[in-house]
Amino acid sequence: MTTKQVAVFLDRDGTIIEDVHYPKDPNQIVLIPHAVEGLKLMREKGYLIFVISNQSGVGRGIISDEEFKSVHEKFCQLIKAAQVEVEGFGYCLHHPDDRCFCRKPQIELIPKTFNGQPILWSESFTVGDKLSDLELADNIGAQGCLVLSGKGRKTQQDLLNAKRSHQYPIFSDLLSMAKSLPVQA
Ligand SMILES: [Mg+2]
Ligand SMILES: [Zn+2]
Repeated sequence: MTTKQVAVFLDRDGTIIEDVHYPKDPNQIVLIPHAVEGLKLMREKGYLIFVISNQSGVGRGIISDEEFKSVHEKFCQLIKAAQVEVEGFGYCLHHPDDRCFCRKPQIELIPKTFNGQPILWSESFTVGDKLSDLELADNIGAQGCLVLSGKGRKTQQDLLNAKRSHQYPIFSDLLSMAKSLPVQA
């Protein structure tokens, strides 16, 4: 049996949790209002969920490996407590100067398959508060969606200035983004 698999590739900071700029203290980790309802609705509509996050604070030496891990664990606790399941996490821990291939908008962290079946990138979505989250979508042939949480309003203004705002649908939060998604079979 083959089922068509599509995904939402979500940014973490400023999209699911409040943006605190180089998060290193688990006590700073707070869910954005309606984020978990959005995640649940995505699942109900038949999407796989992956969280893909640039954490250059590690590569910059601002966040220690231990701090990174404890923030990730706190994040997992919060979404688990809200009974949200996530298929996977991908983190780029490099410094932007490292010339890695996993820092968004590069695509190395984006899974091509899940449970041995391909993920149809062309019918998948990315969502985030920064241009790199949107350009990630362009780089995998998916649809990028902007949320206005986190740095989203600044990104919206940058897109307007660059006359690129028509390229990406804009949503107040993850729940309204999830409401707009087509239901998958
Ligand atoms: Mg972000
Ligand atoms: Zn990287």
